[in-house]
Formats: sequence, C-alpha cells, structure tokens
Amino acid sequence: MSIFQNATFYTTVNHLKDLPPTRVEVAFVGRSNAGKSSAINTLTNRTRLAYVSKTPGRTQHINFFDLGGERFMVDLPGYGYAQVPEPVRAHWVQLLGRYLQTRQSLVGLILIMDARHPLKDLDLQMLDFFGDTGRPVHILLSKADKLSRQEQTKTLAKVKQALAERAERQPVSVQLFSSLKKQGMDSVEKVVADWFAL
Ligand code: GDP
Repeated sequence: MSIFQNATFYTTVNHLKDLPPTRVEVAFVGRSNAGKSSAINTLTNRTRLAYVSKTPGRTQHINFFDLGGERFMVDLPGYGYAQVPEPVRAHWVQLLGRYLQTRQSLVGLILIMDARHPLKDLDLQMLDFFGDTGRPVHILLSKADKLSRQEQTKTLAKVKQALAERAERQPVSVQLFSSLKKQGMDSVEKVVADWFAL
C-alpha cells in the first residue's frame, strides 16, 4: 500500500519557529501553480487534502500531514507568484531557504516543476538551499499530460542533462508526473518509501 494513503491533516504553521517537532518528514515545494497541491491530493488519493488554489501564492502556510508511523509530509508555500510584492516574495524564499537548510527531520525534498517550464531560477535556488545537507531531491515534472510522448522524453532528457553536473554533489533524481492522468505515482511513492526506510 502507498505510504501516502493514510495521510491526515496534522497542523498548519505560519512561522518557522512554530514548526512541530517530528522525527522524519518529506517536504513538497515548487513554484506557485506548478501543480504541488494537485500532486499531494493525487498521491494521498484525496480530492481536497491540499488546497488547489484559484489564487496561487496568497496563502503562505506550512501544512503538515501525518502519514502514520511518525512520518510526516510537509506542504511548503509556493514561490515565485508574480502578483505578490517582491519584498514579500523575497521574504518567503528566505524562509524556505532557512527551513531547507536547517530542518533536521527533513530526509528528502520533492521539487515540483511544470514540465513545460522546468528549472527556473528559483527552482535552482531551492536545489542550492538543500544541496549542503547532502540529502536527496526528487523532481516531479508535473502536468506531463500537457506534453506529447515525444516532448515528455525530450524534456526528461534535457532536465537530466542540465542536472548532471549537480548530481555529482547532490543526490537528485527526476521523473515525469501527471495528477490528471495519475502518471508516475508508483515511482514517487517508491522514492519516498526508500527515504523513510533509511
Ligand atoms: P500549486 O499552486 O503548485 O499547488 O498548483 P495546483 O495544484 O493548484 O495546480 C495549478 C493548476 O494546474 C490548476 O489549475 C490545476 O488544475 C492544474 N494542474 C495541476 N496538476 C495538473 C496535471 O497533472 N495536469 C493538468 N493538465 N493540469 C494540472
């Protein structure tokens, strides 16, 4: 059975100082509108566990979901939403950076990028933030259904190539994903299960 299957809402916090103590957690991060909430809902087989927003980037809560067995899934605020003033955006990028760099219980990071617009500057910044921890990042190229089979293959190869140099310093893997078509669920479940088993 999928490790995401019994997820229940645990808590919401607005400040890093309020993060609950956990033993192990995996975090989901991505640009606003990348498909993060949809991915969480799809993986947990719930329609509304994470809120699929009509106005992405407005809410900047950190949501914790209990996966059972003292394991947690963390839904981090989306970054890069154009309609939020720059100082606010910069502040949140900083907070994300602090979380990624210092959170001891964070065993791995799921980075969600729209397969049509991968590897934006802020995505690379998230990889940099987490890079020093030496812990693994798994990238979901989301909304893969919006690409043809051929485009999917090409995009996957292109992203892998772009990350090849980085992969020497930081464990990073990448896969195609579609919440709409439920594509790639087994792979991400396996990756996260392996992280928790470490
Ligand atoms: P978030 O801001 O990263 O949480 O993104 P959301 O999950 O709210 O999704 C943003 C938009 O992309 C919404 O309109 C979703 O319906 C759409 N979307 C999300 N995942 C997929 C997908 O797998 N396929 C398609 N075609 N659209 C998706």
